[in-house]
Amino acid sequence: MELDILAVGAHPDDVELHVGGTLARMAALGYAVGVVDLTRGELGTRGTPSVRAREAGKAARILGLTVRGNLGLPDGDVLITPKTRLAVIRALREHRPMIVMAPHWDDPHPDHANAGRLVADAAHHAGLAKIRTGQERFRPKALLYYMLPPHVLPTFIVDVSAHVGQREMAIRAHQSQLYDPKKKPDTYLSQPDFLYGVDAVVSYYGTLIGRAKGEAFFMKVPPEMPDLVGFFRQQGFRRLR
Ligand SMILES: [Zn+2]
Repeated sequence: MELDILAVGAHPDDVELHVGGTLARMAALGYAVGVVDLTRGELGTRGTPSVRAREAGKAARILGLTVRGNLGLPDGDVLITPKTRLAVIRALREHRPMIVMAPHWDDPHPDHANAGRLVADAAHHAGLAKIRTGQERFRPKALLYYMLPPHVLPTFIVDVSAHVGQREMAIRAHQSQLYDPKKKPDTYLSQPDFLYGVDAVVSYYGTLIGRAKGEAFFMKVPPEMPDLVGFFRQQGFRRLR
């Protein structure tokens, strides 16, 4: 299945927490949007791989995804090896997405950091004909990093105000990971305040673009701006009278 956008997460809830609104918005526009998670999140303190797979499937339906796959790499041990790189190359050549999303490489969780580097390496190598997988070679047009560290200024921000309900429902689909006073032990995600923090981040990025909610992306190479006037006119410019 060929996709317009493929978002890669290290764990089954990474994509929902950081780019759920963007994926929902792009799917609503009619684009083919998919997610591939690198691991099944089996190292998570709560939830089993089968529970987490069910939750990921539910979130995919809420966001309107065309595809949700899982590469089954070991949770907590996402490493860049010829084997893991080949697994990502296979996924890229299968789905042939114009746009690929991956976690920013500067994240305290080693799985997130390595996922960002692994996807970048694979996006490059997928274009090399001599790396053989029995598929056509392929290279995406754009690699967008999400999950930005605080010191990184986004290259652009997507307004997700109209899709914040879907975004929240998709996050809440990962019920095994979230606050439930009856469940022990507590984790970072299961703190009652966790979702306030998540919402604060999308509110902050929204504020930067004059909207209610936003999701931020970073590109190593900035995108070309073909029509400056048309672009800013589309942003709603009006001369004050
Ligand atoms: Zn994660």
